[in-house]
Amino acid sequence: MGETRVINAELRGIGVARGIAIGRAHLLAPSELEIKQYNVQRADVLHEVARLNNAFSLVRAELEELRSTVSADAPGEVKAFLDLHRMILDDSLLCDAPRDLVRSRLINAEWALTIQLEELCRQFDAIDDEYFSSRSLDVRQVVERVLRRLAGGRPAVAMLPRQLAEGERLVLVAHDLAPADVLQLKERAGVNLAGFVSEAGGPTSHTAILARSLGLPALLGVAEARESIAEGDLVVLDSDGGRLIVNPDSALLETYRQRIQEEGLHRAELRKLKGRIARTADGIPVQLLANIEMPEDARDALEAGADGVGLFRSEFLFMNRDQLPSEDEQFEAYAKVARSMKGKPVVIRTLDIGADKVLTSSARLSLGMLPGDGIEEPNPALGLRAIRYCLAYPELFLTQLRAILRASSQGTVRILVPMLAHVHEIEEAMAFVARAKEQLKDRRQKFDARVAVGGMIEVPAAALTLPAFVSRLKFLSIGTNDLIQYTLAIDRNDSAVAHLYDHLHPAVLQLIHRTIRTGEKARVPVSVCGEMAGDVVLAELLLGMGLRQFSMNPSQLLTVKQRVFELSTRTAARLAARVLRSHDPIEIRRAIERGSANGRAAPRPPLPVAPALAQLSP
Ligand code: PEP
Ligand code: MG
Repeated sequence: MGETRVINAELRGIGVARGIAIGRAHLLAPSELEIKQYNVQRADVLHEVARLNNAFSLVRAELEELRSTVSADAPGEVKAFLDLHRMILDDSLLCDAPRDLVRSRLINAEWALTIQLEELCRQFDAIDDEYFSSRSLDVRQVVERVLRRLAGGRPAVAMLPRQLAEGERLVLVAHDLAPADVLQLKERAGVNLAGFVSEAGGPTSHTAILARSLGLPALLGVAEARESIAEGDLVVLDSDGGRLIVNPDSALLETYRQRIQEEGLHRAELRKLKGRIARTADGIPVQLLANIEMPEDARDALEAGADGVGLFRSEFLFMNRDQLPSEDEQFEAYAKVARSMKGKPVVIRTLDIGADKVLTSSARLSLGMLPGDGIEEPNPALGLRAIRYCLAYPELFLTQLRAILRASSQGTVRILVPMLAHVHEIEEAMAFVARAKEQLKDRRQKFDARVAVGGMIEVPAAALTLPAFVSRLKFLSIGTNDLIQYTLAIDRNDSAVAHLYDHLHPAVLQLIHRTIRTGEKARVPVSVCGEMAGDVVLAELLLGMGLRQFSMNPSQLLTVKQRVFELSTRTAARLAARVLRSHDPIEIRRAIERGSANGRAAPRPPLPVAPALAQLSP
C-alpha cells in the first residue's frame, strides 16, 4: 500500500484542539457509528422483522463464501474464526432476541440489534476472563456485518484497529463522530488514541469541545478524508495549522517532532503564570474560569489555576450508558467537583441533552417515551433540547436538581439553566428548584438554601428580552456557541456551512454587548462560557465590551491569562467601541488584528478566525 501512495499529501480541515498528533490512520466503518434509531408503527413490525431476517441470511451466505475461499494452506485459526462467527450469528440470543425487541418495543431493526449487542457484551464483560472479553469483540464484529447489510452496504471491514508497532498511536478517521462516539473511542483506544479526523463537524460542535477537553488534536470538516487516506497510512495531524499530512517524508516528520517539543516548552513557560491573579495592565481583575465535562476534569481546572468552574456540562455524565445516573451518583459527581475546588465557585449546568448530545436508546426508553419521542427530530438543534427536555421529563429534572442542591452543601455551587428563551421557562425552572428544595427539606437533607440560579443567554430571543432575565436570575452566562448558531441560522455541527459560522458577525457582537451591558446595569454578573471566551484573539474585544468573567477549556486558560496581563481596559474599550460601530466584517477583523499586534506576539489562536472572514482576507 505504502509504495503507491503520494508522499506528503495534504488535506485541509478545521483544527479544533491544539497540538500535533502523529500516528497510523484507522478508518472507522460508517455503521460503527451511524446507527439510525426510530420507532415503527405496529403495522410495520413484520417488515422490520423481515429486514432483520434478510440481513442475517446475507451475512450467513457471506461467511460461507468467505470460508470456501480460504486457501488450503491458510492457518487453521482462519477457518476456526469464521466458524465461530457463524455460530455467533446463529445463536438465538443474537438472532431471535432483536426480533422480539422490534415487536415489543416497536423499534427499528438496527436499534433492536444494537440494544441486544450491548446486552450481550455487558454479560461477556462481566465475566472476568480474557477468553470471554475477546468473545465480545467477535460478537461486535458479527453485528457490524449485519448492520452493514441492513444499511444496504457491502460486507464490513474489520472493526478492530490494526495492530500497532511499539510506540505507535492511532489517528481515527471517520465520516462523523458524535460526542458520545468520541468518549467511547477514547475509552476503547486509551493512550493509543493520538487524535481524530472527521469529514463532518464544525468548530464549536460538541465533538470539537470534547476534543479540546480531552486534549486530543482533531481536525473536522476534512472533505473526502476516507477516500484520501488508506488504513494504516502514517499521518501527521496538525490541528493548529488545520492540516493533515498523509505519508509524510522523514524531513517533514522530523520538523513536526521538533514542533511537538517546542509546544511542550511553551506550555512549561505558561505554567509559571498559574498562581498569579489575572489583572489587566491597568490593574483591573479578571476572573478566568474553567469549562469542564466530567468530574475528573476539575483536576485540569485546578492545574490551570482557574478561579472556579464557570460551566460544568453535566450532560456528559448521562451519555453512553443504558441506565441514567441516580440522584446519589450525580450527587457524588457534583460534590466531588465542589469539594475539589475548595470554595471557589462551581457552576453546574442542568442537563443540556438533545441536538448532537443524545442519550442511549435504552436510557431514553427508561424515561418512558413521550408521544412522538424516538422518532428522529427533523431539526434536533431546534427541537427538544436542554431546558425543554428537562421540563418534558419532570422526574429527570427534579432528580438532577436535588443532586445539585445537595452538592451545594459541599462548596460554592451555582445552578445554570441552558437554552432559556421564554419567561415561563425561567419561572417553571425556578418552580422546579423550589420543589426540589422542599423535597430535600422533607427528607432532612442538607443544601445551601441561597444557592444562586442563573441562565444561559444562547438564544437571540433571550438576548433581546434581557430585563425579564436579569429580574429573575442571579447571574447570566453567554453561550456564544449556540448564540452564533441561532442568530446566524448555522448548524454548528454542519461542515457544509462552517464557513458562515462567524463569531465576529455584527449581529452576534451586538447581542453579546447588550447582554454584558444590561447585566452591568442591573448588577447581575455576566460571563461568557462559549468558545469565544477561550480565543486569545478575542480577549481584548470582550474585555472592552465590559466582560470580566471568561469561562473556557482549561487548556486555553493560561494563554488567555498571559494576554490579560498585556491589555488595558481603556484601550480595549476603544477597540470595542470601534468594532461595535462597524457593520463591515473586514473592518471589524482589521481592528481586532491591529489590537493583537499592539500586544506582545500573541500565541497562536486555539480557534481559527471565522473561516468566512479568512476568505475575505486581502
Ligand atoms: C454555548 O452554547 O456556548 C455553550 C457554552 O454551551 P454548549 O457549547 O454546551 O452548547
Ligand atoms: Mg449551548
